[in-house]
Amino acid sequence: MKVLVLNCGSSSVKFQLVETDEALAAAGKDHALAKGLVENIGGAAMLRYEAEGKRPVRETEEILEHKIAVERALGLLTRGDVGVLRDRGEIEAVGHRVVHGGERFKTSVRIDDEVLDGIEDCFELAPLHNPPNVKGYRAARDLLGAAPHVAVFDTSFHQTMPPEAFLYGLPYVLYQRHGIRRYGFHGTSHRFVSQRLAHLLGRTPDDPGLRLVTCHLGNGCSVAAIRGGRSQDTSMGFTPLEGLVMGTRSGDLDPAIVLHVMGKEELGVGEANALLNKHSGLLGLSGVSNDMRTLLAADAEGNERARAAVDVFCYRLRKYLAAYVGVLGGADAVAFAGGIGENAPAVRARSVRGLDAVGIAVDPKRNESARGTEGEISPEGASARVFVVPTNEELLIARDTYRIVAGLPPA
Ligand code: AMP
Repeated sequence: MKVLVLNCGSSSVKFQLVETDEALAAAGKDHALAKGLVENIGGAAMLRYEAEGKRPVRETEEILEHKIAVERALGLLTRGDVGVLRDRGEIEAVGHRVVHGGERFKTSVRIDDEVLDGIEDCFELAPLHNPPNVKGYRAARDLLGAAPHVAVFDTSFHQTMPPEAFLYGLPYVLYQRHGIRRYGFHGTSHRFVSQRLAHLLGRTPDDPGLRLVTCHLGNGCSVAAIRGGRSQDTSMGFTPLEGLVMGTRSGDLDPAIVLHVMGKEELGVGEANALLNKHSGLLGLSGVSNDMRTLLAADAEGNERARAAVDVFCYRLRKYLAAYVGVLGGADAVAFAGGIGENAPAVRARSVRGLDAVGIAVDPKRNESARGTEGEISPEGASARVFVVPTNEELLIARDTYRIVAGLPPA
């Protein structure tokens, strides 16, 4: 089945055309036929696109709304010189990344009017993310006629967290009235990586005894503790701000700091929000960059604040790794994924330093040679095996979409 995967952000549309079905997925042979990105919607937008065996496309064009961006994506997929489809009618289903599904959506679902209402009810939980996700859906529905649409939520994988993991130490009435609880994000990535990890261990993902810790370390970063294929805990919370130190997000902090700094610096709510989400994390600590590559290079040249930023990042991750081994009562395997997790051996080595006590270690040679590729990096005979597992959220969205449209139970 040819599935169009759409991931619409506030000013961007990412898309992939994926060929998948049950047999292809089981053999790990399903893959993207073409992928692209429209950035800076609302102004001079940049289109990037590449398809198997065709020349890559880079174009700039004034694009003011998501619907035009989706139209351009369909145009590229069907264009004589670079396209992979004769016409858009060949697209058999559309899978949409939707950030927040609240407590309502515990699995991926086919989108109908009722589901659409449910996604819109979650707008107040994810005011920056869910509205563009819905814009993308409406655009694709208008442009693609009869194709079925499926929503795949970032939160749904973590709906299996028990109350002790998802409740905050706040008045319970805030949970009842306003849904203030931990939801967790990056669920599609944690699910993909944990399924792959199970495969690498020769176990089935839902083996009840299987205990995995997955680290998604990209621009946003989170860790998940997974038992028997079900998320037990994850480091992001009510919003993606909680947990690890990230490129520009603070991660965990004493909530009183926010109140204190708002008073001292005379900040409004919007400014405090920007401080925590856009000016903190690696960028705020280092004053150099939010990009781990730049920071590792600056650290190597002796920049002390860059070193401190990387140290804080790795130390926070080390605490979560040890905590999640505790949550699971031991771990069979740990995975590193995302731009940093897949490509930065130095960060992996610094994060597991001293964790031999809980069975986690990396072999220096194996760790150095795993860059952007799948592979085991723990020493022979380690009690917790450690792997680099490149994530592929789009592939999982396409697989879910196929299964739902084909009437199969979720994988
Ligand atoms: P993602 O959001 O998964 O695309 O990850 C993006 C982040 O990965 C960037 O901000 C970089 O900090 C990081 N990254 C990508 N390549 C490398 C690399 N070779 N070494 C260190 N960090 C990298």
